[in-house]
Amino acid sequence: MSKRAAVFAALQVNAVVAMSLVGFGAQVKRVEDWQIHDRNRPRPPVITPATSSTQEKAGQPPSDAVVLFDGKDLSKWVSVKGGPAKWKVAKDYFEVVAKAGAIRTKQSFGDCQLHVEWMTPDPPHGDDQDRGNSGIFPMGLYEIQVLDSYNNDTYPDGQASAIYGQYPPLVNACRPPGRWQTYDIIFHGLRFDKDGNLLRKVHITVFQNGVLTQDNVELTGPTAHKMRPPYKATPVKLPLELQDHNHPVRYRNIWLRELN
Ligand code: MG
Repeated sequence: MSKRAAVFAALQVNAVVAMSLVGFGAQVKRVEDWQIHDRNRPRPPVITPATSSTQEKAGQPPSDAVVLFDGKDLSKWVSVKGGPAKWKVAKDYFEVVAKAGAIRTKQSFGDCQLHVEWMTPDPPHGDDQDRGNSGIFPMGLYEIQVLDSYNNDTYPDGQASAIYGQYPPLVNACRPPGRWQTYDIIFHGLRFDKDGNLLRKVHITVFQNGVLTQDNVELTGPTAHKMRPPYKATPVKLPLELQDHNHPVRYRNIWLRELN
């Protein structure tokens, strides 16, 4: 069986069974491998934690984060159309430029903790999906919707904090347009064994403005327009992408911590 065929065959296998057959993270010691309160256990790295943002000022990323936008320039980003990212940078944020195309990070990332702050236009324009629409795509494949969902109804699996086309958020925790909002996202990507069998599907957790909106949901596959395509074998890491949906949505204070 080809590697590609094996991937799709594996998708038919109950994931729980598959995971129990081949545990991932095989080199990682289990809790049972340590005595309780074992002082020989390695100490976690010491870092300086993030500081909170206010509406007026972005906070500081944690000391071990990869900073993807620090308020100055888009040097960590490129246009998906090729060449530099042509979105507008102003003050301490950047803004989607309609028709300029999506932007993606130069660096590739897989499993991660991702912090993003965003703001939809005030006064708002349009309604439904045509109001403050953008999106955050870990690995360029899976959209966490950005939308002005404050007093703006749309289909639930397309509102802010939705895993687009799959999971509505648990609650609508939106602030009004013109206010900074935060996403804190935990992303776990696909895992395959050495033969190309799928061991783990994509899982995403989202906090919006400090409120849990996606609780470790298991994705059916990548995001697409009006369809739910199956997974394809992908590299472990791919660039993070932000969507151009023709609306001047703003972003600031974007950072990421890679998870091993
Ligand atoms: Mg979108």
